[in-house]
Amino acid sequence: MSARYLEISRSELESRARQAYEIYRECRVCPHACGVDRTQGQTGYCGQTDLLSVSSSVRHFGEEPPLVGTGGVGNLFVTACNMRCDYCQNFQISQLWKKQALPTAVELERTYQSTAEQMVRLQKEGVHFIGWVSPSHVVPGLLKSLVLARDMGLRIPIIYNTNGYDALPTLKLLDGVVDIYLPDLKYAHSATAKKISHIQEYAEFSREAVLEMYRQVGPLVLGEDGLALHGLLVRHLLLPEGLAGTWETLCFIALEMSPSVSLSLMSQYRPVHKARFPLNREITIEEYESAIAMTRELGIENLYLQSMANKVHNLPNFDNTENPFPLDCTQNQDNAAVWQL
Ligand code: SF4
Repeated sequence: MSARYLEISRSELESRARQAYEIYRECRVCPHACGVDRTQGQTGYCGQTDLLSVSSSVRHFGEEPPLVGTGGVGNLFVTACNMRCDYCQNFQISQLWKKQALPTAVELERTYQSTAEQMVRLQKEGVHFIGWVSPSHVVPGLLKSLVLARDMGLRIPIIYNTNGYDALPTLKLLDGVVDIYLPDLKYAHSATAKKISHIQEYAEFSREAVLEMYRQVGPLVLGEDGLALHGLLVRHLLLPEGLAGTWETLCFIALEMSPSVSLSLMSQYRPVHKARFPLNREITIEEYESAIAMTRELGIENLYLQSMANKVHNLPNFDNTENPFPLDCTQNQDNAAVWQL
């Protein structure tokens, strides 16, 4: 399996990283467009300077089967986030982190080097892909690390695992670099996103972003071994009381892209962190079956479903950064039970 970033020259990859880093100077890396100079220690909504902080880098077997295979995904769980979902299951690393001080040049380079080393270590451990998890606010740092990692022998493809709140100019710098886009489409209604994820215009930005991802990598293509080669796999997490706007999101996928787009319809919602009424319950079997019926109505066929019975295994605990996932979620046979085609 060849990674796309190996098909562009080193100087081109370096140039992408440099261009991306320049965006930090008046930050518009994500749609918040805070305009702060992160290279001078200023911080915006995400609270991050130009320091690249990875909370946990682990071999993970909890993603969809074509990403997991037998070796798993080498996930880098990035610190902080550009959303503030009341129900975030990763809240320990996305929201409860310590404010950064202005890093020295040496510290800065060390974090890029360390991230590169983590990617190479995961490759040695036998993962099929490197997953950048919640990367939207640190794309420049990740690109810088990728240049170093490639020099150190990194050869496996990159999965861009995002909440979908991505800025178009930033995504364009990833064209030819990322092999697999794994975006959420969390909400069809921006007013809901504002209320429970505390961001503006989610529906508009996420849809624009997903269309760009689809333009770059096309539909999800699998190899003979069942592993993903490249493409787009959209995730949609059902929320209680239809808050995610499932029908509208499914219509967007089927009509604005294609019914053949691969979709992961997620049932794993759990009321954690600050989730309050009406988010204070899991979704019901009836809600999940109703969403599945919608996909059938729209002709969406490449569907990954989650078992309602195994949801308990999907909640991470990032107090244990070396192994944030329960043991039975890190074994492939359990992954098969959690996901169904
Ligand atoms: S990445 Fe987004 S949230 Fe963070 S400072 Fe830049 S524009 Fe603001």
